[in-house]
Amino acid sequence: MSKVLIIGAGGVGQVVTHKCAQRRDIFSEITLASRTKSKCDTIAAQINGPIKTMQVDADNVPELVALIQAEKPQLVLNIALPYQDLTIMDACLATGVDYLDTANYEPLDTAKFEYSWQWAYQERFKAAGIMALLGSGFDPGVTNVYTALAAKKYLDVIEELDIIDANAGSHGLPFATNFNPEINIREVTAPCRHWENGQFVETPALSTKRVFDFPEGIGPMNCYRLYHEEMESIVKHIPTIKKAQFWMTFSDNYLKHLEVLQNVGMTRIDEVEFQGQKIVPIQFLKALLPDPGTLGPLTKGKTCIGVIARGYKDGKRKQVYIYNICDHQACYQEVQSQAISYTTGVPAVVGAIMMLTGKWHAPGVWNMEQFDPEPFLDVLGPMGLPTVVIDGGDWPEL
Ligand code: NDP
Repeated sequence: MSKVLIIGAGGVGQVVTHKCAQRRDIFSEITLASRTKSKCDTIAAQINGPIKTMQVDADNVPELVALIQAEKPQLVLNIALPYQDLTIMDACLATGVDYLDTANYEPLDTAKFEYSWQWAYQERFKAAGIMALLGSGFDPGVTNVYTALAAKKYLDVIEELDIIDANAGSHGLPFATNFNPEINIREVTAPCRHWENGQFVETPALSTKRVFDFPEGIGPMNCYRLYHEEMESIVKHIPTIKKAQFWMTFSDNYLKHLEVLQNVGMTRIDEVEFQGQKIVPIQFLKALLPDPGTLGPLTKGKTCIGVIARGYKDGKRKQVYIYNICDHQACYQEVQSQAISYTTGVPAVVGAIMMLTGKWHAPGVWNMEQFDPEPFLDVLGPMGLPTVVIDGGDWPEL
C-alpha cells in the first residue's frame, strides 16, 4: 500500500491516474498535481474514489520540494513534459523519494534529447539510496523491455534491432498530433540518427522510408526512420547490437501539413518578435492545434508497436518479432483517452508497480532494459497491453 504523487494532468496523466485508481491494492493514496489545477480536477471527477489534486509549477524546485514534503509520497511519477525531468529529479533528491518518467530530458531551447543529463544523477541517486526509472512509457519503455526479452529468451546474441511504431488509427481531423504537439513536432523534425557499427549515423529528417506489412489485419504502411531515445540506452546496455533503427508511420496528409508548417517557419523553437511581443512559433502552433486529450472520442483504429530483433540462437541466424496491438476505441471506453496516451500511461503505472513491489528496485538511475523483463510483462498484459511474440518468421530487413 503506497502513496504516489503524479505530476502532469495531460493526455498521459489522465491514463496514469485512471490506471493507478484501478489498483488501489498498490496505490492506496493518489495525489495528482499539475500547472493547471482545474485539469487535475476534471480527471479526478472521472474516477470513483478519492484523488487529491494540487497546483504545482514543476519548473520550480522549491515548490516541488514543498509539495513532496507535504504529501510524503513513496514515488513521484513525472508525467509532465521532458523539460521538467531535471527539476523533478532535483526535488526527489532533496526529499529522498523515488522517481519515474516516460521521456528523457530535453532543453527548451534546443531540440536535442539524450540521456547524458539524467545519467549524470547516477552517483547522487545511489548515495541518497533512491531510484530513478527512466523512460517507462511504450517507446521508450515497453520497446526496451521487449528487447530485453528477446535477449533473455529468444536470442543468444542480438545484432540488429528495428523498433517499429505504427499508428493505424485516424481521428478524421485535417492535422493533429496524438501527444503534446510541441514535443511531437520537435521529435519528428529533428535530424535522424540510427546506430551502425559502433556509432550514430546522421541523415536528414524523414529522408528514409520503407513499407512494412503490419500484422493482424493492419497491412502495409509507410514507415519513416527517426531518431528515438531508447536506441541510446539499448545499444549501451546490449553492446552486441551492430545496427539499431527506429521507424514510425506517418500518413501523407500529416507529412504534407508538417512540410508546409516547417517551410513557413511555424515549427521554429526560437523566439521571434511579433507586434512588440516575443513568441515562439511552435508554442503558438500548439495553442492552435487540437488538444490531443480531445482526440479520444474521434480516433478509430489500432496501434501496433514492437521490435524485430535479429541475431543468433544456438549458432543459427534467427529473428523474433515482439509487439502489442492496441485499439483506440477500446481505450476510450475504458479511460476516456486514445491509444497513444494509453500505451504510454499503462507502462508508467506498471513501472511504478515494479518499483513499489520491489520487483525492480535498486538505488541509482536505471533504464528499462536493465531489469528482468518478465515480471513487467506479466503485469502489463492484465493491465491492458498484451504482448505477442512471433518466434522465428521471415520479416524483411528494413
Ligand atoms: P500533455 O501536453 O497533454 O500534458 C502535459 C502536462 O504537463 C499538462 O497537464 C501540463 O499542464 C503539465 N505541465 C507542463 N509543464 C508543467 C509545469 N512546468 N509544471 C506543472 N505541470 C506542467 O502531454 P502528454 O500527456 O501527451 O505527454 C506527457 C509526457 O509523456 C511527455 O513527457 C511526453 O513526451 C511523454 N510521452 C512518452 C511516450 C512514450 O511512449 N514514452 C509517448 C507519448 C508521450 P498544463 O496543461 O496546465 O500546461
